Amino acid sequence: EEERDGSAAEREALAADEGASSIKVAVRVRPLSAREKAASIASVIRVIEGQTVVVLDPADGAIAYGPGANRTREKQYSFDHAFDDSTSQEEVFNLTTRDLVDYVLRGLNCTAFAYGPTGSGKTHTMTGTADEPGVMPRTLERLFERMRAQTANTFRVRISYIEVYNECVYDLLRPSGAAGGGGAAHGNGANAFGGLDLREDPVKGMFVAGVHEEEVTEPSAVLAQLERGNARRTTEATRANATSSRSHAVLQILIESREALANVQTSLELGKLSLIDLAGSERMGKTNNAGARLREGNKINQSLLALANCINALGDKAKRGQFVNYRDSKLTRLLKESLGGNSKTVMLCCLAPSADAFEETTSTLKYAHRAKNIKTKAVRNSTSVTAHIAEYQQIISDLRTEIGNL
Ligand code: ADP
Ligand code: MG
Repeated sequence: EEERDGSAAEREALAADEGASSIKVAVRVRPLSAREKAASIASVIRVIEGQTVVVLDPADGAIAYGPGANRTREKQYSFDHAFDDSTSQEEVFNLTTRDLVDYVLRGLNCTAFAYGPTGSGKTHTMTGTADEPGVMPRTLERLFERMRAQTANTFRVRISYIEVYNECVYDLLRPSGAAGGGGAAHGNGANAFGGLDLREDPVKGMFVAGVHEEEVTEPSAVLAQLERGNARRTTEATRANATSSRSHAVLQILIESREALANVQTSLELGKLSLIDLAGSERMGKTNNAGARLREGNKINQSLLALANCINALGDKAKRGQFVNYRDSKLTRLLKESLGGNSKTVMLCCLAPSADAFEETTSTLKYAHRAKNIKTKAVRNSTSVTAHIAEYQQIISDLRTEIGNL
């Protein structure tokens, strides 16, 4: 495969693709598990033409696609991609997240998140295993492959891996007090709950204060770190007497790209790629009524609720341009630029095929369908180093004025 970088045609294609675009939505159906097969639970989903998911309502026992299946009980939903249970990790990656890497290297923000009920294949899709690595490790491999092709630039890659649990942000690479089995030790930047705070920076955008950022030079080492992080995710949740299905895991890959220009100047581009394994979306179904303002209090994950509210508001054509409240949760604050703003975004919806998951499947599909209407606008985070310094000089001068006025 020919992959020369920086050709005029490629630059043009990327430039044309900057600007407004919808969220790309893909749906993946996992295979029936051994347990489901042993219990003779039927599959109620089929995928046609790589884009359409057909679901059969199992009511009245009219399940599966054997003789006598009642097709009038079917509903169809179409997406950018629909993957059936035989689709490999590589195919899923190639058709969803692979292209994001080039955008990030040009200084765009990109996001891919896995949405769906617990047990539907989110972690398998995002993290995967050593034999079948998922989107996260494959993205890093691809990133390094593309950087090696761009010899004119120098790059610096850092990753952070955090968990949003119960509206607190925890560091999955360097958890505070983890050695003591969940003590109250606070790392740098930790707040009163042992979690980390979100801050906004004019250059970096939203970031997690005090989070460990691991410099990556060898992508193959990352899968092990992610797996360790995921194990911590479970431990943290067990301590709090809940399950890991209620936490969101967010891998952020930060890329600094420097290109030497004439006159000792360098141009600096910052790209941020966020890969997110969301909490289980179960019980979100009751909140699917169009336009209904979702309320906390019914013990549904607040970040997921807020994300749902944002998707409802952003995806409702009639309400376009209206206020969207990102401030309601840690996750939506962190994703603000990804959902409504400066980003290219991919939503990977995971589904279990079994008849007993029908309700959750239907609500997930309705949800995914609504997300197709969201428009994002990607803008390059490109800045010359002199402009960057000027920005800080302005901030310093503003602070001096402020002090002077006291
Ligand atoms: P979730 O993170 O959504 O709760 P998991 O990724 O843990 O779900 O998947 C649940 C189970 O199904 C796991 O045992 C996982 O290995 C298996 N699984 C999920 N997706 C697939 C797939 N596409 N192919 C094979 N096994 C899968
Ligand atoms: Mg999971």
